[in-house]
Amino acid sequence: LAKNFLGGANVEFIPGTVDKTRHDELVYCFIFQEDSYLTDAGKLDVPVFYKSELLKMGIENLIYLGEANNKGCFAAKARKDFSVPPGYKFHEIRLTYDHDLCSRFWLAGHAFHILNWDLKNKTCTVCKADLCCSLLERAKVCKSCGLTIYPRISPAIIVAVIKDNKILLARKNTYKKGYFSLISGFVEPGETLEACVAREVLEETGIKVKSIRYFGSQPWPFPDSLMIGFTAEYASGDISIDGNEISEADWFLPDNLPRVPGKHSIAGRLIDWFCGKYKNI
Ligand SMILES: [Zn+2]
Repeated sequence: LAKNFLGGANVEFIPGTVDKTRHDELVYCFIFQEDSYLTDAGKLDVPVFYKSELLKMGIENLIYLGEANNKGCFAAKARKDFSVPPGYKFHEIRLTYDHDLCSRFWLAGHAFHILNWDLKNKTCTVCKADLCCSLLERAKVCKSCGLTIYPRISPAIIVAVIKDNKILLARKNTYKKGYFSLISGFVEPGETLEACVAREVLEETGIKVKSIRYFGSQPWPFPDSLMIGFTAEYASGDISIDGNEISEADWFLPDNLPRVPGKHSIAGRLIDWFCGKYKNI
């Protein structure tokens, strides 16, 4: 195997759908086994292979993603008989997911999203004919009825609500005891992002908010979300939880936070922003 890896913080990636790589060229490949991908065991970088060599490995559903650092870049699924080459290991994508859009972890998320979309969309949902990949854009087209299917992206908001110098955190029923995060939820059809922020906070905690401002975003391909982060100020109301989705909610000072998500997630970045702004007030 070629000892060359996609590593470092900055990866130049140009998405594409037409594979022009030759068999004697080196290409990157994200080989997935469930939600882990093959990396070198040391730096966890993404390996390159000669394309001819890649085609002989125990993989299936090879899909072209585009060019990364001027090399062809692919995703594939490891077959059951795939054997991990010495010096490599499967690494869980969630553990390394990073907010930096230039990093290889973003690209791993992209690869994961496209591969799963491809695996789930083999036949037309209208006429059941086979779908084929469009060469013009990231889409699949039914040759029989003309239906075009794009990768699904499900927008969801996440919001840091501030009251005086405290932040609103909630514990979902599915979280472990003592673990809290920000209010979040999926956008409804026909809803603006700001209306979604106001609705989710009101539904989950009984609090009304104002001054809703965009903060940043993060793709979250488990399976297909795009998290859109906001900050907001408390307007009115007392905390009341429905008990169905949320089991606890409260206001927290920067120096008295419960266990919260890490900085790799947009939730962690929003909480970090809050701590930086309100710590010494
Ligand atoms: Zn069709």
